[in-house]
Amino acid sequence: MELRDLYQEVILDHNKRPRNFGVVEGGAQAAGHNPMCGDRVSVSVRMDGDRVAEARFTGNGCAISKASASMMTEAVTGKTLADVQGMFATFQEMVTGRAEADDEKVGKLVVLSGVSEYPSRVKCAMLAWHALVAAIEGASTTVTTEAI
Ligand code: ZN
Repeated sequence: MELRDLYQEVILDHNKRPRNFGVVEGGAQAAGHNPMCGDRVSVSVRMDGDRVAEARFTGNGCAISKASASMMTEAVTGKTLADVQGMFATFQEMVTGRAEADDEKVGKLVVLSGVSEYPSRVKCAMLAWHALVAAIEGASTTVTTEAI
């Protein structure tokens, strides 16, 4: 089996059986919409200090947007906000083709590297990440407010 086919298979599997599909009760939430493709994703997250304790998503969209959201929720669990921001940047560089796909840097998310060949799908792959960062930043704001 070629690497490409394997990647395709993983994407289709996450699309069919998305991981962490649902809502984190009492978590911070942010929604994203990609009008180019019609994808809608809502990400909810619960932080434990500056670490992601739990991340979930709901939504409707193309296979790329769902697989990306599904893989993202798995990848960020247990990571710090700084880790997540780093992963966001590295992932964005990969899907926009500004950096070579490097599984040592992005781990399993490397299966989405093929998106770089389809510029119109970049937003599909990035949608959940934008929503996640918005949700976490919202969570941080809440934490700060409560601290005061
Ligand atoms: Zn899409």
